[in-house]
Amino acid sequence: MKLLEVRNLKKYFPIKQGFLVERVVGFVKAVDDVSFSVDRGKTIGIVGESGCGKTTIGKSIVRLLEVTDGEMLIDEEDTTFYFMKKRRAKQYLKAKYFDTSRFNNGDNSEFEPYEKKMYDVYNRANRDASKAIDYLFEKADQKKRLLRRKAQIVFQDPMSSLNPRMTVGQMLTEPLLFHELVKNLDEAIEKVKELLVQVGLKPYHVDRYPHQFSGGQRQRIAVARAISVNPDLIVLDEPTSALDVSVQAQIVNLFQKLQEQLNAGYVFISHNLSLVRFISQEVSVMYLGRIVEQGNSESIFKNPLHPYTKALLAAAPIPDPKKKRNRKDLVGGQVPSPINRPTGCFFNPRCKYRMDICTKEYPPMVRVDENHFVACHLYSTSQEQGGESK
Ligand code: SF4
Repeated sequence: MKLLEVRNLKKYFPIKQGFLVERVVGFVKAVDDVSFSVDRGKTIGIVGESGCGKTTIGKSIVRLLEVTDGEMLIDEEDTTFYFMKKRRAKQYLKAKYFDTSRFNNGDNSEFEPYEKKMYDVYNRANRDASKAIDYLFEKADQKKRLLRRKAQIVFQDPMSSLNPRMTVGQMLTEPLLFHELVKNLDEAIEKVKELLVQVGLKPYHVDRYPHQFSGGQRQRIAVARAISVNPDLIVLDEPTSALDVSVQAQIVNLFQKLQEQLNAGYVFISHNLSLVRFISQEVSVMYLGRIVEQGNSESIFKNPLHPYTKALLAAAPIPDPKKKRNRKDLVGGQVPSPINRPTGCFFNPRCKYRMDICTKEYPPMVRVDENHFVACHLYSTSQEQGGESK
């Protein structure tokens, strides 16, 4: 069973203009039709340049942002609508499940597990769409609280993600008490001391403030806060980029140790390719809000196919001064504005393999190997004679 399935996720930010009366004049398509999944105990790495939509995906997963469109399934249950405004959630449920001929014709043999769950709710409500929606919303607050607990996030800069006015003890007891994981404050403090030891700190650190710690120690506190509520999924949003290289290694080792203990799924967002290769089993490469290459980590790093992935790898620092950089895959130019994306393939203004079709049509995602997908016309033309689209 997949822990998290993200399907066709979209997050558009409106661009507003006007002084007295604001009107929407366009959208920044930060995340546009992105799909991927995470298994328990596994890590998916999301890589790409700054501004390609990585952090927006992370914030959408932990519901700090309301998504524009798409589905998010947790443990094969559609949880997308719980964090929408109720009116929009009702429209979503009606359009997708309860007003469709698919649900009304009574044959559920072809349904996916998440659809079967909705179908059961629909039958329980005597096939009345409004009643079925009410059933789902009866326990919405409880459900939201559970989903928030299940998915946690660790941000890039621990100094700005920790409250400077609170002690470590105050910060870490709060989620334990809120989610009722302990009976009282005394038990919460004992639990916090255990968590501090688990992340490599000392129990007496419980009374200290964030400014009394080093950068690496602060990130350990942020990790302790994330794991305090026993999450199934942790989004790690550039968790080591604000740290020294020596401390980075310690924090990455800590993530691996905790993953073994908790069996949690990780979404590891980073532009550090070597780190992503080290920690992730699956990788998605993003460019201007879309995934351009996706699949098994080793396959992508050993045999990158998309010209953008090749350029990213060619630009990565090489620790051995005797080794020569692969200059032929490097690209020039700037990432185009996400407000005004190029027609056809978004990478075409910078791509040296550009063909006529590249400026006209966005390439479909095609399978090139068992677990290796790429969105590039160089591969889609050959796939048209017998390949598969994702
Ligand atoms: Fe380059 Fe065309 Fe592939 Fe885009 S689709 S990466 S422009 S070859």
